[in-house]
Parts: sequence; C-alpha cells; structure tokens
Amino acid sequence: MTSTFQFLFLFLIIFTVMTQVWLSTRHISHVKNHRSNVPNEFKSIIKSKDHQKAADYTVAKSKLNIIDLLVQASFLYVLTIGGLINWLNNYISTLDLNSLISGSIVIISVMVLSSLIDLPANLFKIFKIDEKFGFNRMSIKIFILDGIKQLLLSIVIGLPILFTSLWIIGNLGELWWLWLWVFISLFNFSMISLYPIYIAPLFNKFQPLGDTNLKNKIEKLLLRCGFKSSGLFVMNGSLRSNHGNAYFTGFGKSKRIVFFDTLLEKLTPNEIEAVLAHELGHFHHEHVKKRITLMFLISFIGLYILGSLKESIWFYEGLGVYQLNDANAILLFLLVSPLFIFFIRPVIAYYSRKNEFEADEYACKFSKPEDLKQSLIKLYRDNASTLTPDPLHSNFYDSHPPALMRINAINAIKKP
Ligand SMILES: [Zn+2]
Repeated sequence: MTSTFQFLFLFLIIFTVMTQVWLSTRHISHVKNHRSNVPNEFKSIIKSKDHQKAADYTVAKSKLNIIDLLVQASFLYVLTIGGLINWLNNYISTLDLNSLISGSIVIISVMVLSSLIDLPANLFKIFKIDEKFGFNRMSIKIFILDGIKQLLLSIVIGLPILFTSLWIIGNLGELWWLWLWVFISLFNFSMISLYPIYIAPLFNKFQPLGDTNLKNKIEKLLLRCGFKSSGLFVMNGSLRSNHGNAYFTGFGKSKRIVFFDTLLEKLTPNEIEAVLAHELGHFHHEHVKKRITLMFLISFIGLYILGSLKESIWFYEGLGVYQLNDANAILLFLLVSPLFIFFIRPVIAYYSRKNEFEADEYACKFSKPEDLKQSLIKLYRDNASTLTPDPLHSNFYDSHPPALMRINAINAIKKP
C-alpha cells in the first residue's frame, strides 16, 4: 500500500503540474495571437494600446505562474519524499519536548519555510511586473510592515488555533475529527464577522462614504433592492495597488459594503451604482451563504478522510515520514489535499461563473444595463484583464466569465 500511495502521489504531482503548465502555455499563446486586434465589440472603448498592455501583463503573470508552479511542486517533493519533514521530526525529537509543542514546531517550521519559498515570486509580481505596468503603489516599507502584521496575527490567532486543534485530536477520542470540524467551523464563522471590524482595519483605512450625491444614489438603490447594511465604506486600496474593486463583507451586524478608492476614481456614479447592483445580486441569490456552506461541507469530508488516514501507516510512509503522530497527520494532509482538490477546481470555477451571470442579470433589473456594460469594460481595461483568454484556461480557472460572454449575456437579457 505504501508504494502504491507513493506512486499515486508522485503521479499526481507530475500530472497536476504538467496540466497547469500546459494550460498556461496555451493561454500565453492565445493571448499573444490576439494581441494586435481589439475584438470588435470593444473597439469603441478600448484603445489598441490598452489591449496590448493587457496582453503583455497577462503573459508576464502567466510566465511567473509557470515558474511558481515548478518551484512549489519541487518544494512539496523535498518536504515529503525528499525527507525534510522526516529530518525535522528526528531533529526536534532530540530536544525532548512534550508532543504538543514539538508537533507545533514541525508545523510552524514548514509554514515559515513555505512563506519564504513564496517570497521571491511575491516580490517579483509586485515590484517587477505590477511596477512595470503601473499597478503597484506599494513601497518596500509597506510590504515589510504588512509582513510583520501578518506574522503577529499568525502568532496571536494562528498559534492558539493550532494548539487547540492538536489538543482536540489527542484528547477527544474516536470522533476527534468531528469535534475538530465543529471547532474550525465555529472559528471560521466568527472570523467572517470579526474580520471586517478588527482585522481589515489593521491593513487599510476605512472611511464612511462622504460623497453625498453618490451616497443618495446608492441609498435609493439599496431601498429598491430591499437591502439593509451597517454602512458604506471607502477603503484606501490605492495604498497598495491601482486595481479597482468593490465588495460585500461581514455577516449580520458587521455586514458592510466596501468600495476601493481606486474604483470611485475611475467610474461615474451611474456605473458605480451598476457595480453595486451586481454585488447586491450576489447577496440576493445568497451566493456567499452557499459558498460558505460548500466550504463547510468540503472541510467536513476532508476531516472525515483525515480521521481514517491518521492511523494508516502507508499514508505517512508513502509521503516519506516515519513518525506517526497527530501533527504529521495534519501537516501531510494539508500538503497533499490540494493535489486531490485540483480535480474539482473547474467545477467550483464553473459554479462561480454561473453566479456572476446571475448577479449581472439582477443588476440589469435594478440599474441600467448600459451602465453595467460600461463599468465592466472600464474595469477590464483599467485592471489590464485580457479580453481574449484561452477558452480552456478560462473554463478551468476563471471565477468570472470572459468579458465578451458577460456583455453578450447582458445584451440577451429581455426587458420586462
Ligand atoms: Zn460578481
């Protein structure tokens, strides 16, 4: 069983990397082939120069993504069959610590190593690619400050969660996986309410929307849609990037609407209204609730599987680890599960794109379709999102449908 599982694991690493590299190279050549011509539907708004910029930006990001995929896969190999986790376990066991502490040290060491491995690609994306295309507004100082804040948050929030999880596994009997699921679900659920109020403000400033004209317009829209929220906020997204966005966040009393300042700069009030109507469409169709439910379901299945893997020697030894303990079980499971989740990714992406169409349809009922189309095209242009993605790449990954499909779908909506 050990060697069968090891073979499956190696096969999946190679298969998932090759599939993703293949999709990226397809995407790159498709975008390059369409670089010289703006699709007819967009000719009136998108200049050739902007279209080429979007193509070059997409190609640069995709190339970085290919390198990143290879680095991540090699690192996964080194950690597991390469013997790094096993070595870490052996080393830490010589220190004679209690199992909760030594297990946590192994998990934390691997997490720290992973972030260090991710670091060069992150730096390159922000300070080379985004900088070159005029999207980066982040200074090195903010980058370092963000890193320190994230580290402190991991210590204050992550450590207690890790300790509690290991304690649950070691002390709550056969059904530990069920209790762990309850604990993690409760934690995630409370984070949804607490994040917008306590954590997001550590990274950005949130101010109540000041523009009274816009505010009146938005409040009328909210009334039309029968939506109550605890506030409209503007976030200084411009601190880090030029990309514009708007989103809903929180739950119950912490429910709020957040606009990036960069979005407000770029769109007219009518277009902002249309973007918001789209977001309200997500809310109306309960997309967020459905997504959270799906995540809870996936983690339930995952933990159930972990429940049976934890006692299986082949699971550890197949992954090059010879110490059977709770911390290794969690760690290996977290490292390996993305290889299996890979296969449901296109399904999740499809579901997400379906939600986008539904939200667009809703937006067309409560705001003008022309404004929605205009805002979409502007956002594609200003974020340098390609208008001509490779169809297969888009089907596999994209959470949002390609611009042309969205515009066509909006055009197809019949007036009541
Ligand atoms: Zn959406």
